[in-house]
Amino acid sequence: MKVLVSNLGSTSFKYRLFRFDDGVEESIADGGYERVIDFGAVIEQCLEALREQGHLQSLEDLDAVGFKTVLGKDLSGCVEADDRVIAALEGFRDVAPAHNPAYAEAIRQFRRAAPGARLVALFETSFYRWMPEAAGIYAVPRSWHDAGIRRYGFHGASHKYIAERSAELLDRPDVADRVRRMYVDGPGNPPEKPLRVVSCHLGGSSSVTGIASGVAIGTSMGFSPQSGLPQNNRVGDLDAMAVPFAVKHLGIDVSEAERQLSKEGGLAGISGVSNDLRDIKAAATGGDARAALAIDAFVHGIRQWAGGFLWQMGGCDAVVFTAGIGENNPDIREAVCRGMEGVGLRLDPHANEEVRGGEGTISAADSPISALVIPTNEELVVARETHRFLEQSRIAG
Ligand code: ADP
Repeated sequence: MKVLVSNLGSTSFKYRLFRFDDGVEESIADGGYERVIDFGAVIEQCLEALREQGHLQSLEDLDAVGFKTVLGKDLSGCVEADDRVIAALEGFRDVAPAHNPAYAEAIRQFRRAAPGARLVALFETSFYRWMPEAAGIYAVPRSWHDAGIRRYGFHGASHKYIAERSAELLDRPDVADRVRRMYVDGPGNPPEKPLRVVSCHLGGSSSVTGIASGVAIGTSMGFSPQSGLPQNNRVGDLDAMAVPFAVKHLGIDVSEAERQLSKEGGLAGISGVSNDLRDIKAAATGGDARAALAIDAFVHGIRQWAGGFLWQMGGCDAVVFTAGIGENNPDIREAVCRGMEGVGLRLDPHANEEVRGGEGTISAADSPISALVIPTNEELVVARETHRFLEQSRIAG
């Protein structure tokens, strides 16, 4: 079975082709386009390239296309990417303006370009469907809640990958298996012995998720992906009353406030230097106080969320770092874990320096809490779930 995973931004289209055969899964091709104006045209080009390179014999050889959709109004999970999905994406286009319109358009275009392939959407919110209600509700009037204003959580494919892979690395095949089957069979009963993981996805956008035996119990991102930790350009959490205050006192309207909070906030907003932590660190090293403050605020936020989940879960077995910053930046990992020896987390400074871009343990051998670096693989999660969705519907049909 061949599954194409498409990963879209407002003007970018990236793809990866996977093959699943008799228990073997492999990535066989990938590519992408930037500054896309016409999604229909690049989708045609992508399919043509896969045929020319011999990865697809013909269009009939493509069994499915999986989409890492962000969030939909009244819809989550791993589902057929049909009109219902398009309507759900469009219903929340204002909440994820960089992604929802692009995914809706790409689904339409694939339907036209590859009519024989099944189209499957895996919502980023899926991983949070079993989160306790108390972790997802905002203290808003009921009418706001009914309009869909609640904590959905994002980076679901990434945190799911971390939940499964960390369980494998920590020798808990029971939990890994639970995570693997979760979207099809539901989470079932928790194992007798818990596995408590704090997953830190730190990249261009960042989130921290508490994972108890494979199931998310809370996450830092909320109603929109602009929330939680300070992001590259996006604000992160902000007192709701600050927006009407800014509108009144800065002479801007709500859409300008929205633009500024999405484009001029986050690490870029605090540092005034860049949205990339490498540049911010270079400036901080050179004595720039705002750059140093941006790094401190980022670390403060990660510690605050990680500490909250440790308390919620009654302890922690492992903290995991992933995504661009988590995988490559030992300084941030060290700062996040600093002073935690009393709680049972001790880094191995040498291992922390060494592990960059690959998988590894960075805690000391005698540290009761493990610290791991695990490169995330969101596309593999989308491909696996798409494959399972097809297998399941074959069995059901
Ligand atoms: P996105 O969320 O856009 O996919 P990434 O996960 O690639 O972004 O994360 C981008 C961030 O990761 C940047 O702030 C950058 O500083 C950091 N980063 C990425 N690669 C490296 C690297 N090799 N070394 C240090 N930092 C890196």
